[in-house]
Amino acid sequence: MRQYDILTLFPGFFQGPLSESILKRAQQRGFAQITVHDLRSYAHDRHAIVDDRPYGGGAGMVLKPEPILEAVANLRLEQETHLVLLTPQGRPFKQAIAQELVEHHHLLLVCGRYEGFDERVRALLAPDEISIGDYVLTGGELPALVLLDAVIRLIPGVLGDEESARYDSFVDTLLDFPHYTRPQSVKGLAVPDVLLSGDHERIRRWRRKEALRRTQVRRPDLLQQAELDEEDRQLLTEIDAEEENG
Ligand code: SAM
Repeated sequence: MRQYDILTLFPGFFQGPLSESILKRAQQRGFAQITVHDLRSYAHDRHAIVDDRPYGGGAGMVLKPEPILEAVANLRLEQETHLVLLTPQGRPFKQAIAQELVEHHHLLLVCGRYEGFDERVRALLAPDEISIGDYVLTGGELPALVLLDAVIRLIPGVLGDEESARYDSFVDTLLDFPHYTRPQSVKGLAVPDVLLSGDHERIRRWRRKEALRRTQVRRPDLLQQAELDEEDRQLLTEIDAEEENG
Protein backbone atom coordinates (compact mmCIF):
# COMPACT_ATOMS: atom_id res chain seq x y z
CA MET A 1 0.00 0.00 0.00
CA ARG A 2 1.26 3.47 -0.85
CA GLN A 3 1.53 5.96 1.97
CA TYR A 4 0.81 9.69 1.69
CA ASP A 5 1.49 12.06 4.59
CA ILE A 6 0.40 15.69 4.48
CA LEU A 7 1.84 18.37 6.77
CA THR A 8 -0.43 21.39 7.13
CA LEU A 9 -1.57 24.15 9.44
CA PHE A 10 -5.18 23.43 8.45
CA PRO A 11 -5.91 19.68 8.78
CA GLY A 12 -9.68 20.35 8.56
CA PHE A 13 -9.20 21.39 4.93
CA PHE A 14 -8.80 17.75 3.91
CA GLN A 15 -11.83 16.18 5.59
CA GLY A 16 -14.30 16.59 2.72
CA PRO A 17 -12.03 15.81 -0.25
CA LEU A 18 -10.48 12.73 1.37
CA SER A 19 -13.85 11.25 2.23
CA GLU A 20 -15.39 11.39 -1.24
CA SER A 21 -15.11 9.52 -4.52
CA ILE A 22 -11.79 8.10 -5.74
CA LEU A 23 -9.67 9.35 -2.83
CA LYS A 24 -12.08 7.72 -0.38
CA ARG A 25 -12.26 4.46 -2.35
CA ALA A 26 -8.49 4.24 -2.76
CA GLN A 27 -8.16 4.33 1.04
CA GLN A 28 -11.04 1.96 1.73
CA ARG A 29 -9.71 -0.61 -0.74
CA GLY A 30 -6.22 -0.52 0.70
CA PHE A 31 -4.42 1.16 -2.23
CA ALA A 32 -3.46 4.28 -0.29
CA GLN A 33 -3.07 5.34 3.30
CA ILE A 34 -3.44 9.11 3.64
CA THR A 35 -2.59 10.79 6.95
CA VAL A 36 -2.92 14.48 7.70
CA HIS A 37 -0.55 15.97 10.30
CA ASP A 38 -0.93 19.29 12.09
CA LEU A 39 2.26 21.34 11.75
CA ARG A 40 1.33 23.16 14.95
CA SER A 41 1.90 20.00 16.97
CA TYR A 42 5.60 20.37 16.16
CA ALA A 43 5.83 23.85 17.73
CA HIS A 44 6.94 23.56 21.33
CA ASP A 45 6.39 27.02 22.79
CA ARG A 46 3.37 27.88 24.90
CA HIS A 47 1.37 29.36 22.00
CA ALA A 48 2.36 26.75 19.39
CA ILE A 49 3.80 29.44 17.14
CA VAL A 50 4.86 28.28 13.68
CA ASP A 51 5.46 31.62 11.94
CA ASP A 52 7.40 34.79 12.55
CA ARG A 53 8.11 38.22 11.05
CA PRO A 54 10.51 38.37 8.11
CA TYR A 55 14.09 39.48 8.64
CA GLY A 56 14.59 42.72 6.72
CA GLY A 57 11.06 43.86 7.46
CA GLY A 58 8.02 44.03 5.21
CA ALA A 59 4.56 42.56 5.17
CA GLY A 60 3.50 39.00 5.95
CA MET A 61 4.74 36.19 8.11
CA VAL A 62 7.20 33.41 7.29
CA LEU A 63 6.91 29.76 8.35
CA LYS A 64 9.61 29.04 10.92
CA PRO A 65 12.08 26.33 9.93
CA GLU A 66 12.27 24.27 13.16
CA PRO A 67 8.70 22.83 13.27
CA ILE A 68 8.97 21.78 9.63
CA LEU A 69 12.42 20.25 10.08
CA GLU A 70 11.27 18.31 13.13
CA ALA A 71 8.06 17.14 11.47
CA VAL A 72 9.92 15.93 8.39
CA ALA A 73 12.51 14.13 10.50
CA ASN A 74 9.67 12.46 12.40
CA LEU A 75 7.54 11.46 9.42
CA ARG A 76 10.31 10.50 7.02
CA LEU A 77 10.68 6.79 6.36
CA GLU A 78 14.34 6.03 5.67
CA GLN A 79 15.21 5.79 1.96
CA GLU A 80 11.62 5.49 0.85
CA THR A 81 10.27 8.98 1.38
CA HIS A 82 9.92 11.44 -1.46
CA LEU A 83 9.56 14.88 0.08
CA VAL A 84 7.42 17.40 -1.82
CA LEU A 85 7.18 21.09 -0.98
CA LEU A 86 4.18 22.82 -2.54
CA THR A 87 5.28 26.22 -3.79
CA PRO A 88 4.43 28.49 -6.74
CA GLN A 89 8.18 28.59 -7.41
CA GLY A 90 8.43 24.83 -8.01
CA ARG A 91 8.52 22.82 -11.22
CA PRO A 92 5.17 23.06 -13.00
CA PHE A 93 2.97 20.05 -12.20
CA LYS A 94 2.07 17.95 -15.24
CA GLN A 95 0.67 14.51 -16.00
CA ALA A 96 4.23 13.27 -16.56
CA ILE A 97 5.14 14.33 -12.99
CA ALA A 98 2.04 12.54 -11.63
CA GLN A 99 3.26 9.43 -13.47
CA GLU A 100 6.69 9.89 -11.93
CA LEU A 101 5.31 10.40 -8.40
CA VAL A 102 3.04 7.36 -8.46
CA GLU A 103 6.19 5.22 -8.54
CA HIS A 104 7.11 6.41 -5.03
CA HIS A 105 5.65 4.38 -2.20
CA HIS A 106 5.80 7.22 0.30
CA LEU A 107 5.15 10.88 -0.43
CA LEU A 108 5.41 13.51 2.29
CA LEU A 109 3.64 16.70 1.14
CA VAL A 110 4.41 19.96 2.95
CA CYS A 111 1.86 22.76 2.59
CA GLY A 112 2.99 26.37 3.01
CA ARG A 113 1.02 29.37 4.25
CA TYR A 114 1.53 33.14 4.63
CA GLU A 115 4.64 34.30 2.72
CA GLY A 116 5.86 30.72 2.51
CA PHE A 117 8.81 28.82 3.98
CA ASP A 118 12.01 30.06 5.58
CA GLU A 119 14.58 29.60 2.80
CA ARG A 120 16.66 27.23 4.95
CA VAL A 121 13.91 24.59 4.72
CA ARG A 122 14.78 24.33 1.03
CA ALA A 123 18.50 24.39 1.63
CA LEU A 124 18.47 21.71 4.35
CA LEU A 125 15.85 19.31 2.98
CA ALA A 126 16.39 19.63 -0.79
CA PRO A 127 12.73 18.76 -1.44
CA ASP A 128 11.04 18.24 -4.78
CA GLU A 129 9.41 21.68 -5.17
CA ILE A 130 6.18 21.56 -7.15
CA SER A 131 3.82 24.28 -8.36
CA ILE A 132 0.32 23.57 -9.64
CA GLY A 133 0.30 26.66 -11.88
CA ASP A 134 1.40 30.22 -12.39
CA TYR A 135 -0.87 31.81 -9.81
CA VAL A 136 -0.64 32.28 -6.06
CA LEU A 137 -3.05 30.53 -3.72
CA THR A 138 -3.43 31.24 -0.02
CA GLY A 139 -1.92 27.93 1.04
CA GLY A 140 -0.52 24.61 -0.13
CA GLU A 141 -3.60 22.58 0.85
CA LEU A 142 -5.41 22.83 -2.49
CA PRO A 143 -2.18 22.14 -4.42
CA ALA A 144 -1.55 19.06 -2.23
CA LEU A 145 -5.05 17.77 -3.00
CA VAL A 146 -4.63 18.42 -6.71
CA LEU A 147 -1.36 16.50 -6.73
CA LEU A 148 -2.75 13.63 -4.62
CA ASP A 149 -5.83 13.21 -6.79
CA ALA A 150 -3.77 13.15 -9.99
CA VAL A 151 -1.30 10.64 -8.51
CA ILE A 152 -3.68 8.29 -6.70
CA ARG A 153 -5.93 7.75 -9.72
CA LEU A 154 -2.85 6.36 -11.48
CA ILE A 155 -2.23 3.59 -8.92
CA PRO A 156 -3.05 0.38 -10.81
CA GLY A 157 -6.51 -0.84 -9.76
CA VAL A 158 -7.76 2.42 -8.23
CA LEU A 159 -9.97 3.42 -11.16
CA GLY A 160 -11.25 -0.10 -11.60
CA ASP A 161 -11.47 0.16 -15.37
CA GLU A 162 -7.86 0.80 -16.47
CA GLU A 163 -9.09 1.82 -19.91
CA SER A 164 -10.70 4.93 -18.47
CA ALA A 165 -7.36 6.61 -17.79
CA ARG A 166 -5.61 5.34 -20.90
CA TYR A 167 -6.98 7.99 -23.26
CA ASP A 168 -7.15 10.86 -20.78
CA SER A 169 -5.71 14.16 -21.93
CA PHE A 170 -1.88 14.37 -21.62
CA VAL A 171 -1.40 10.63 -21.02
CA ASP A 172 0.13 10.24 -24.48
CA THR A 173 0.59 14.03 -24.84
CA LEU A 174 -2.60 14.65 -26.85
CA LEU A 175 -5.90 16.00 -25.52
CA ASP A 176 -8.73 13.48 -25.10
CA PHE A 177 -11.25 12.90 -27.93
CA PRO A 178 -14.85 14.22 -27.59
CA HIS A 179 -17.30 12.03 -25.65
CA TYR A 180 -21.04 11.50 -26.17
CA THR A 181 -23.77 9.67 -24.24
CA ARG A 182 -27.55 9.34 -24.52
CA PRO A 183 -29.76 10.84 -25.83
CA GLN A 184 -28.81 10.45 -29.48
CA SER A 185 -29.97 13.98 -30.30
CA VAL A 186 -30.05 17.13 -28.14
CA LYS A 187 -31.60 20.32 -29.47
CA GLY A 188 -30.86 19.25 -33.02
CA LEU A 189 -27.27 18.15 -32.27
CA ALA A 190 -26.79 14.47 -33.12
CA VAL A 191 -24.12 12.02 -32.00
CA PRO A 192 -21.65 11.39 -34.89
CA ASP A 193 -22.87 8.40 -36.97
CA VAL A 194 -19.58 6.55 -36.65
CA LEU A 195 -20.08 6.14 -32.88
CA LEU A 196 -23.35 4.30 -33.54
CA SER A 197 -21.85 2.06 -36.22
CA GLY A 198 -20.55 -0.68 -33.92
CA ASP A 199 -17.43 -0.79 -36.13
CA HIS A 200 -14.63 -0.76 -33.53
CA GLU A 201 -11.85 0.01 -36.00
CA ARG A 202 -13.71 2.99 -37.50
CA ILE A 203 -14.51 4.24 -34.00
CA ARG A 204 -10.86 3.92 -32.92
CA ARG A 205 -9.69 5.84 -36.00
CA TRP A 206 -12.34 8.56 -35.53
CA ARG A 207 -11.36 9.02 -31.88
CA ARG A 208 -7.67 9.29 -32.71
CA LYS A 209 -8.43 11.81 -35.44
CA GLU A 210 -10.61 13.96 -33.17
CA ALA A 211 -7.97 13.85 -30.43
CA LEU A 212 -5.45 15.12 -32.98
CA ARG A 213 -7.86 17.80 -34.27
CA ARG A 214 -8.68 19.01 -30.78
CA THR A 215 -5.02 19.17 -29.79
CA GLN A 216 -4.11 21.00 -33.00
CA VAL A 217 -6.80 23.63 -32.39
CA ARG A 218 -6.47 24.07 -28.63
CA ARG A 219 -2.91 23.06 -27.75
CA PRO A 220 -0.64 23.15 -30.82
CA ASP A 221 2.31 23.20 -28.37
CA LEU A 222 1.39 19.65 -27.29
CA LEU A 223 1.15 18.45 -30.87
CA GLN A 224 4.75 19.58 -31.39
CA GLN A 225 5.89 17.30 -28.55
CA ALA A 226 3.74 14.28 -29.45
CA GLU A 227 5.23 11.11 -30.91
CA LEU A 228 3.21 10.73 -34.11
CA ASP A 229 3.12 7.60 -36.25
CA GLU A 230 2.31 7.13 -39.93
CA GLU A 231 -1.45 6.93 -39.27
CA ASP A 232 -1.38 10.13 -37.20
CA ARG A 233 0.34 12.00 -40.03
CA GLN A 234 -2.27 10.70 -42.48
CA LEU A 235 -5.07 11.81 -40.14
CA LEU A 236 -3.53 15.28 -39.79
CA THR A 237 -3.38 15.58 -43.58
CA GLU A 238 -7.09 14.69 -43.73
CA ILE A 239 -7.84 17.25 -40.99
CA ASP A 240 -5.95 19.98 -42.89
CA ALA A 241 -7.87 19.14 -46.08
CA GLU A 242 -11.19 19.25 -44.17
CA GLU A 243 -10.31 22.61 -42.61
CA GLU A 244 -9.37 24.02 -46.04
CA ASN A 245 -12.69 22.87 -47.50
CA GLY A 246 -14.53 24.48 -44.58
N1 SAM B 1 5.27 34.45 -1.26
C1 SAM B 1 5.16 33.21 -1.98
C2 SAM B 1 5.64 33.38 -3.39
O1 SAM B 1 5.29 34.40 -4.01
O2 SAM B 1 6.33 32.50 -3.93
C3 SAM B 1 3.73 32.72 -2.03
C4 SAM B 1 3.21 32.23 -0.72
S1 SAM B 1 1.58 31.59 -0.85
C5 SAM B 1 0.59 32.97 -0.38
C6 SAM B 1 1.46 30.53 0.53
C7 SAM B 1 1.66 29.06 0.24
O3 SAM B 1 0.67 28.60 -0.66
C8 SAM B 1 2.96 28.68 -0.42
O4 SAM B 1 4.00 28.54 0.52
C9 SAM B 1 2.63 27.35 -1.06
O5 SAM B 1 2.72 26.27 -0.16
C10 SAM B 1 1.16 27.54 -1.44
N2 SAM B 1 0.95 27.87 -2.86
C11 SAM B 1 0.43 29.00 -3.35
N3 SAM B 1 0.34 28.97 -4.68
C12 SAM B 1 0.80 27.77 -5.08
C13 SAM B 1 0.98 27.14 -6.34
N4 SAM B 1 0.66 27.75 -7.48
N5 SAM B 1 1.48 25.89 -6.36
C14 SAM B 1 1.82 25.26 -5.23
N6 SAM B 1 1.70 25.82 -4.00
C15 SAM B 1 1.20 27.06 -3.91
